[in-house]
Amino acid sequence: MAKKRRTAVKTKKLAVSVSPPRSSARKRTASRKPLSASGRLTVSARRTTRRTNVPQYVYFFGAGKADGDRSMKDLLGGKGSGLAEMTDAGLPVPPGFTITTEVCNLYYENNCTVPGAVDDEMLKRLRQLEKAANASFGSVERPLLLSVRSGSKFSMPGMMDTILNLGLNDSMANALGRRTGNARFAFDSYRRFIQMFGNVVLEISKDAFEDELDTVKRVHGVSLDTELSEGALREVVSAYKEVIREKTGRGFPEDPLRQLRLARDAVFRSWNNPRAKEYRRIYNIPDHIGTAVNVQLMVFGNMGDRSATGVGFTRNPATGAKEFYGEFLINAQGEDVVAGIRTPQPIRELEQLMPAAYALLRRITSRLERHYKDVQDFEFTIQDERLFMLQTRSGKRTAHAAIRIATDLVDERVVTTKEALRLIDAGSLSQLLAPIFDSKAWCKIPVVTRGLPASPGAASGQVVFTAEDAVRWASEGKQVVLVRKETVPDDIHGMYVAEGVLTATGGMTSHAAVVGRQMGKPSVVGATEIQVDETTKRLKIGEHQLGEGDELSFDGLSGEVKVGLVSSQPSEIIQVVAGNLAPEDSDIYKRFNRVMKWADRVRRLGVRANADQPDQANIAYAFGARGIGLCRTEHMFFGEQRIPMVRRMILAGTEEERRKALKELLPLQREDFYGVFKAMRGGPVTIRTIDPPLHEFLPKREELRVEIARLEAKGSRSRKLPGKRKLLQRVEQLHEFNPMLGHRGVRLGITYPEITEMQSRAIIEAAAQLVKEGLPVVPEIMIPLVSDVRELVHQKAVVDRVAKTVMIEQGVTVDYLIGTMIEVPRGAMTANAIAEVSDFFSFGTNDLTQLAFGFSRDDATKFLKLYQDRKIIARDPFASLDEIGVGALVEMGVRLGRGVKPKLKLGVCGEHAGDPDSVRFFDKVGLDYVSAAPYQVPVARLAAAQAVLEAETED
Ligand code: ADP
Ligand code: MG
Ligand code: MG
Repeated sequence: MAKKRRTAVKTKKLAVSVSPPRSSARKRTASRKPLSASGRLTVSARRTTRRTNVPQYVYFFGAGKADGDRSMKDLLGGKGSGLAEMTDAGLPVPPGFTITTEVCNLYYENNCTVPGAVDDEMLKRLRQLEKAANASFGSVERPLLLSVRSGSKFSMPGMMDTILNLGLNDSMANALGRRTGNARFAFDSYRRFIQMFGNVVLEISKDAFEDELDTVKRVHGVSLDTELSEGALREVVSAYKEVIREKTGRGFPEDPLRQLRLARDAVFRSWNNPRAKEYRRIYNIPDHIGTAVNVQLMVFGNMGDRSATGVGFTRNPATGAKEFYGEFLINAQGEDVVAGIRTPQPIRELEQLMPAAYALLRRITSRLERHYKDVQDFEFTIQDERLFMLQTRSGKRTAHAAIRIATDLVDERVVTTKEALRLIDAGSLSQLLAPIFDSKAWCKIPVVTRGLPASPGAASGQVVFTAEDAVRWASEGKQVVLVRKETVPDDIHGMYVAEGVLTATGGMTSHAAVVGRQMGKPSVVGATEIQVDETTKRLKIGEHQLGEGDELSFDGLSGEVKVGLVSSQPSEIIQVVAGNLAPEDSDIYKRFNRVMKWADRVRRLGVRANADQPDQANIAYAFGARGIGLCRTEHMFFGEQRIPMVRRMILAGTEEERRKALKELLPLQREDFYGVFKAMRGGPVTIRTIDPPLHEFLPKREELRVEIARLEAKGSRSRKLPGKRKLLQRVEQLHEFNPMLGHRGVRLGITYPEITEMQSRAIIEAAAQLVKEGLPVVPEIMIPLVSDVRELVHQKAVVDRVAKTVMIEQGVTVDYLIGTMIEVPRGAMTANAIAEVSDFFSFGTNDLTQLAFGFSRDDATKFLKLYQDRKIIARDPFASLDEIGVGALVEMGVRLGRGVKPKLKLGVCGEHAGDPDSVRFFDKVGLDYVSAAPYQVPVARLAAAQAVLEAETED
């Protein structure tokens, strides 16, 4: 936001004045701060004069002013920067301070202690906070309670810890009860605090506390927390303290300052708890960025019936529909809403209960949306009908929602099309192509129950009850659905591998829902009619009894649950692309298409597809690919009737025999190429000459040996025997110890030039046919695995000779190019020489990665995960380009190649073309195009546009 917006002419005041919690006497400035007529939040100009060399470790926010702002996410974390920004804009935010993410690193470097100087700075800010709140930390006269909240740059919902009501002890709880005239509230806060502190700081399991709570509830004959009387809550407090004494051998720490330091350090520690680490691994969040700690004045949603706490979204995060969306609980605090303990009320109902607070919340949040130009996910608390904002951030959403929101925000003129493009996670687009249930099959089975439709998609599989089981079953290749009473953040690894997640409790913003949406995992939550027993692994839905391994299906878009497996069908977008649904009948397709067109206007990189068959090429074209970057001719050999011909070619003892076999293959290849050219409607098509080791087409050596032994055992009369023996002999001859580094690629073309000849003939003949039909065509013939220019010179001579002959035969001219793949490190290193005889390069980053690391692509999975866990490598280099190493080879190839031929055509055809981060790199080094798998083409189009937009903001 521009810092100079103070000049806004017409300003509207917030309709409702906001006063601080009772412990504070001074009127906060919130009600005085204007909102501009444009609906944008007004922010005072940068106010800190603190421009000394001493680094600042603690940033204050309160009384309408903040040291930080939204641009400081790295330092203050998302939560801290949001609190600062909202404070500056005059929104009702309880004051507090943020200890920076830098301190998190200092904490770890410093033997898990916070340096004294930082602690001193914290104490100073605490004094400032006391002033702002007109209360005093640790004083029974003017009690001040705090929340201590984690918050890193990237939101990691529920992965780290937060402690509320800090500062309470016996005398403070009594004092709070007296001052508020509400002792029940005071002891409710106290028991919550002991439990959170016990769990987060003292690392005692939550169950130990929950068990005590359940006992007290039972004794008093109540089922809800809210029904506990003051007396009962006092009992809970003593029982909790007993738990702590028992587990730690010490009493509960009574000194508020000690509590604060311990809590702060525990939040830093929670950065490295196992679930936070797992989350970072899945989402590629770096480990070194650390979390900030936000210390904030408490406001209380648990003060009684006029108080509440809630969360919400400015739009529906599952569908993207423009509807105010959220949930709240009366007389509750913090995690109650998201933890699924009580099922929360939909936010609309707040309008009846507390109209003024509701109206203010709506105004504030829609202004936040316009200000941040994105859907906001917010948290609030109402204390005695006064609204306080506790958090705002960009809402996580499904790909469906992302597309809908982006197009709606453009139509509402909140964002430009360029800004809209940045609101969509390119990697998530594949969710849009995920299957949905086959509607006919789905309708045949009765609905057994319904839950909340938290994340769309079809989930069908065998029931498992724990995350561990999900992982184990999935590793055995089974499709599982994870069924839980509620999911806790620890279940993340199980959710990751499951087809979908079904929970009995929790609302649309419960953990299962939030994480499910982000992963694009079909999720149904709050299916209150199901009974889940995780220990006996039983699930009861009405009269249906299910156990582990039983089949279950559910639909994350409708919330319907059915017993049995249901087949699925292609998503709407795929149906349109395949021509089975009219584009105008699919809202999501139309929006998707608009977004793709915006992306095409912005991107610099061309987008092609890797496709071997005409039907794949057609899909790729429909997804927007305008060319084929890699057509793997050997894939065309795998067709069932072709294998025998290919075998004859390989087994041939003489060149003549081989030519005979190749002759049979020629018309089939020609037909394939014709189809692919046609599908691309004149766009360039890169065809690679045969690449894989020949033995891939032959039967396995061991199997043949066994078969022969068996035949021999039956007696030597079998007629098959001589043939089998001959086959085995040839297989033995062709056997390689390391086929990946063996007789493949250009090496085959050099040993058997007749193969290259046949393929060149098929390509040029197919092209000639198109030329005769008056259709444009530009074949690009690509020689794989070249490490030395002389290899290419040899193959080029073969291709040129055949092409010339065919053109004379056919009486037409075909424009064709000859180039090479750069996929062997030596090829990149000698790219200048290779460029002399090459019309284009295509970086084969799969092999290049394999050969640069010396990791076998097929075996690396065994240790790559361990490497990631040990932080030896950050990401799987086969999924996301290793910029430092493999990227350097690509850059070298570009530099050397273009040094010789400034206009050399450059592309990439590795798997990396479907990875947004890699695409950004390819854009940066100046490639002409990327070539992705057909279904990844939309990802590549959007990622290529985002790469340009990002580069624009950088300079
Ligand atoms: P998370 O990152 O897991 O969302 P938060 O730090 O946002 O954790 O805290 C969770 C919840 O605790 C908040 O949504 C809010 O309800 C409650 N909370 C946090 N700070 C305060 C506060 N100062 N006053 C009242 N409630 C708070
Ligand atoms: Mg939060
Ligand atoms: Mg290769």
